[in-house]
Amino acid sequence: MTTQEAKTIFRGHVAQMKALRHAMGILSYDGATTAPVESAEGRGRTLAYLSGCSYEIQTDPALEEAARYLSQHPEELSELERREIQLFRRGSEYTASIPRDEFVGYTTLLNKADAVWHKAKLDSDFASFAPLIREIFDANVRFAKYYKPDQAPYDTQLSRYEQGLTMARTDAFFGALKERIVPLLKRVMARPQVDDSFLWGKVYPTEVQRKFTDYLLELITVDRRRCGVGETEHPFTTFFNKKDVRVTTHYHEENPVYSMYSVIHEGGHALYELHSGDELEGTLLSGGASMSIHESQSRFMENYIGRSRAFIELIFPKMQELFPEQLAGVTAEQMYLAVNKAQPSLIRTEADELTYALHVLVRYEIEKGLFDGSIAVEELPGVWNAKYREYLGIDVPDDRRGVLQDSHWSNGNVGYFPSYALGSAYGAQLLAKMKQSVDVEGAIRSGDLRPITGWLEEHIWKYGKRYDPLELLEKALGEPFDPRYFTDYLEEKFTKIYGLD
Ligand SMILES: [Zn+2]
Repeated sequence: MTTQEAKTIFRGHVAQMKALRHAMGILSYDGATTAPVESAEGRGRTLAYLSGCSYEIQTDPALEEAARYLSQHPEELSELERREIQLFRRGSEYTASIPRDEFVGYTTLLNKADAVWHKAKLDSDFASFAPLIREIFDANVRFAKYYKPDQAPYDTQLSRYEQGLTMARTDAFFGALKERIVPLLKRVMARPQVDDSFLWGKVYPTEVQRKFTDYLLELITVDRRRCGVGETEHPFTTFFNKKDVRVTTHYHEENPVYSMYSVIHEGGHALYELHSGDELEGTLLSGGASMSIHESQSRFMENYIGRSRAFIELIFPKMQELFPEQLAGVTAEQMYLAVNKAQPSLIRTEADELTYALHVLVRYEIEKGLFDGSIAVEELPGVWNAKYREYLGIDVPDDRRGVLQDSHWSNGNVGYFPSYALGSAYGAQLLAKMKQSVDVEGAIRSGDLRPITGWLEEHIWKYGKRYDPLELLEKALGEPFDPRYFTDYLEEKFTKIYGLD
C-alpha cells in the first residue's frame, strides 16, 4: 500500500460515514419535530439498518489497514491528517471492540427506550421504564469492558464524552463546587426572595415568541441561512455540517423566559458548529471539541451573556415592544432580578445558575452508583428523591418531575451529565480571560456582540476537534482549568443580587 492509496481509502470511508450520520441525524431530527406519532417503528427499522451500514464501514478491514498504515507513516501526513487518524482510531477501537449484533441491538434498544420513556414520563410510571434503564446501563458497562478491560467502566464512559475525564477528576471538581455553592445557597435562601410574579398570569402567544426567537438569534450573530429552528418538547441542537445546523425550542405561553434562554443556549451550540474552521469541513475534525467544551459555549451565551444586567437592559425595550400589555409597568431591573432568581427547584433544565450544578451532581452520583453496582435500578426513585432532599432541600412529588425528567438515559447518553457543570465552570474562566482583552459589557451595551463572538471563534470555535478538550482550554486560557473562577463568579453575582454581606 502507498500513502496515497491509504489516504484515498481513508477519505472515501470518512465521506461514507459522514453521509450515513447525516441521514441518521435527519431521521432523528424529523422524529423529534414533525414526524407523526406512529412513525417510530418504521424509523427504528431504517435507523437499525443504517446503523449496521455505519458499523460495517467503520470496521471495514481495508479502512483499518489504511488507518494503521497512515499512523505508522506520520512523516507523510499533515498535522491535521495525523490528528484525524488519531481521533479515528480512538473511535473505531471502541466500536470494533463491540460485537456487531450487540452494536445493532443497542440502536434498536435506544429507539424503543425513547418511546417508552416518553410515555413513562407522561404517566409518571417509573416501573415501565426501569427494565430499559437496566438494559442500557448493562450494555454500556459491557461495551466499556470490551474496550478497556482493565479500566473502571465509568471512567471509560466519562472519557468518551470528555477525553481524559475520570471519576477522580470529577469527584474533585464537584467537591470544590459543593463546598462553596451549598453554603452560598443557604445564605441566599435566608434572604427575602426576588419577586418574579409579574412574569406569570399572562399569555405570551407562541406566534409573538417566535419573533422574539428570531430577534435573539440575530442578536447573538447566528446566521439563519445556515441554522434552522424547530419546536420540540425538549430543546436541543443538532448539526450536519457547517451549513446545516438545527436548534429547537419549546414555547410556554404562560412565560416567555423559558424559550428565551433555550434559544440563547442552543444558539450558543449553533455558533460553535457554524464557526468550525473551513479547512476542517468534511473531515473528522469539524465541530465541537467535546461535550463539555460545547456546553461551555452554550452556557456562556445563556448565562454569562444572556443573564447579565447589560444584556437584559439591551433587550428589554424589544421585549416590551413585543409584549406591551404583558410587561406594562415592568422595569429592566425587575426583569434582570427575575431571570436571576435563585431557588432550589425540581427540574434541571429550568434551574438557575446557582443551583444548576447540584442537579448535575445528583445525576453524576447516581450514574456512578449504577455503574459500580452500589445502586440498583429499582431503588432509583428513592435514591433520587433522597439526594434532592440532601443537596437542594426539596421533596420530589412524583417521578415525572424526578428521576424520569431527562431524556439522556433513554438516548444512551450515559456519562454525559458532568459535561453541563464542567461547561459552566469552563465558561466562567473563559469569561475572565476574555475580559483581559475585550470590553465585554461595552460590547453587550452597544448591541454588537461581535467582539465577544470573535474572541470565541479565535480561541475556541475555529479549532474544531484539533485538540483534546483540556489542551484547547489551556491554550485559550493560558493557564490550567480552575473551578474557582466559577464559584467566585457565583459568589460575587448572588451576593449583590441578594444583598448578602
Ligand atoms: Zn446544551
